[in-house]
Amino acid sequence: MTGRKVAKAGVTSKPTTGLKKSGWRTFRPVITEECRGCGICVMHCPEGCMKTENKMAKVDYDYCKGCLLCANVCAFKAIKSEMEK
Ligand code: SF4
Ligand code: SF4
Repeated sequence: MTGRKVAKAGVTSKPTTGLKKSGWRTFRPVITEECRGCGICVMHCPEGCMKTENKMAKVDYDYCKGCLLCANVCAFKAIKSEMEK
C-alpha cells in the first residue's frame, strides 16, 4: 500500500478550488419538475457542482460551466437548457 487516496467512483472533482466558472456558460442547465432525484446527473457532472436535495437535483451555478452533460444523461429529460442572459 502506498497510502495514496483514490477518488470514489463517479466523483471527479468538487467545487472547492475557488475558480468560479459561471462566466464560461452560453447555456445554463435548469432542473424541471420532471426530476425524480435519481442522482445520475450528479454522478456525471465533471465539475462536481450538482447534488440532490429533497429528491431534486440542484446545481451550484457558481461552478457550473454549462457543458450540459447533466441534461444529456438524464433519462427523464428533466433538465432543460436556457441561454445565459
Ligand atoms: S438525472 Fe434527471 S431525474 Fe435524475 S436527478 Fe438528475 S435531473 Fe433528476
Ligand atoms: S452543465 Fe455541466 S458543469 Fe453544469 S451542472 Fe451540468 S454537468 Fe455540471
